[in-house]
Order: sequence, then structure tokens, then C-alpha cells
Amino acid sequence: MSKMARWMDQAAIPRPSAPTRSRHRVSQPDSAERQVDSRATAAESAEPGLVSEAVRLAMVEGLRRAGVRDSGVLEVMRNVPRHRFVEPALSSRAYEDVALPIGHAQTISRPFTVARMIELLAAPLEGTARSAARVLEIGTGCGYQAAVLARLFGEVVSIERIRGLHEQARTNLRSLRIANLRLVFGDGQLGVPQAAPYDLVIAAAAGESIPEAWLQQMQIGGRLIAPVSGGKGQALHLVERSGSDRWQLTVLDAVRFVPLRDGTA
Ligand code: SAH
Repeated sequence: MSKMARWMDQAAIPRPSAPTRSRHRVSQPDSAERQVDSRATAAESAEPGLVSEAVRLAMVEGLRRAGVRDSGVLEVMRNVPRHRFVEPALSSRAYEDVALPIGHAQTISRPFTVARMIELLAAPLEGTARSAARVLEIGTGCGYQAAVLARLFGEVVSIERIRGLHEQARTNLRSLRIANLRLVFGDGQLGVPQAAPYDLVIAAAAGESIPEAWLQQMQIGGRLIAPVSGGKGQALHLVERSGSDRWQLTVLDAVRFVPLRDGTA
């Protein structure tokens, strides 16, 4: 198996339609995950702040061992408090490398998936090109990835179709005081034309194809990464826009995301 195929397999997250399987996965972490978990629970009551810093560092070390190389992405993920984005009952598991339920039959993506997708998306961007980039995220969910994106890039617009999650994200993000992030409620398949064009587009839900609106709202020279469902399951698609009528597609490996749905709820 190629290196790429290996990490993409690891990036798979539980299907929302298979809650038993997802629960099984979450309750049977591998040994590295268990180690992080026990550190979190052992000392959590004493020094919550310090503990979450320590387990975040351990999470980032795990991401590095799993092949994430982008130091900017790793640094931001060392600082964004993922435990504030999951329900209190699950916060001791927030730094395990697993997807966790966030309500409304949706999940917060695995840290590895977040890290790897952003790393791929941002690969050619350095310095000010990176810190000034304008980004569209489709599928805000609980807002965790939106927070990571906002700390890395210039301007982030994130759209969510489930009102309850859109509001939950707003609440989760409030205390982080992120000024360069705009949350939008609506059907992300239409993109957010008012703030287009975007240098980077990232989707956290899989459709059967990449909506035309996303392609049109990309900046020329911009990049898009999205899971796409096909006959054999989902694959991650990387699209680069090279001209007003030219887009180049690279199909990466298998992933498993929640479905991209129509309309709002
Ligand atoms: N970015 C999140 C992942 C959330 S899961 C994280 O940080 O972990 C994917 C999200 O995409 C779900 O909340 C789902 O409701 C949302 N979604 C699905 N179809 C959508 C659409 N058409 N427009 C906007 N959001 C959509």
C-alpha cells in the first residue's frame, strides 16, 4: 500500500448511519490513544488547564508520528482547545485521535483528518500568502476546524446547514475571541458568494460531486479539498483552479465523512 493510501485509511471517520460501529471504535482506542486518555483523566481534576495543555501536546506528537509535517498546522492544533468543542461528558476523550459525536447525527472529525486535510490544502502557501489566505469551510459542525483554520489563515467563512450546530459553534467559539471567522447558516452547496473568491475551500461532508458553486467561487490559483462519494465509497478530491475555465483534479485515497445534504434543518 502506498504511503498516501495508508494515511487516508487512517483518516476514515465513522459513518453517521452506523452508530454502533462508531461507538465501538471510540470505546476501543488503540494503546497510544488509551495512554493519552488515562493522562487526561488521572490529573484532570487537579489542574485542568495544565492537563489539557499536556494532552494536547501528546495529541500533536501523535499527529507528527502519524506523518503530519506542517509545523504551522501542528502549532495551531497544539493551542486550540478541542475539549471545548465536545460535550462535557466526552471532554476527557477530546484529545484522542477519534471522531466524536456532536449531536444531530454529526461528528467532530478526527484530529488526524483535520490536520492532514489542511496540510494538503495549504501545502504551497507560505508566509504572507498563507496568513492572508481567504478560506471557505463547508460544514462548520461544532466549529473546531473553523477555529484551526482561522488561526492559520487570513479570513475564514464557515457555513453550516443545521441551525442547532451553527448556534453551538457560535457558543463554542465565543470565548476564543476569533475576529477573522464568520459563521454562516445556510446550504453550503451554494457556497457563500457574498465573500467569494476564496484562495482555499475545504468541505467536511461528502457529496456525489463537487458543487459548481464551489468551483466558481475559487480564486484562480486557488485550491479546494473535499470528500466525494462514488460507487466504491468516498475519496478525497483535491482541485486546483488554473484559469477562469480550468480546474485540475487529483483524486486521493479513501475516506469516510458524513454526507453533504440539501437545504437547511
Ligand atoms: N468541521 C467539523 C466537522 C463537522 S461534520 C469539525 O470541526 O469537526 C460535517 C458537517 O457538515 C455537519 O455538521 C453537517 O451538518 C454539515 N453539512 C452537511 N451538508 C451541508 C451543507 N449542504 N451545507 C453546510 N453544511 C453541511
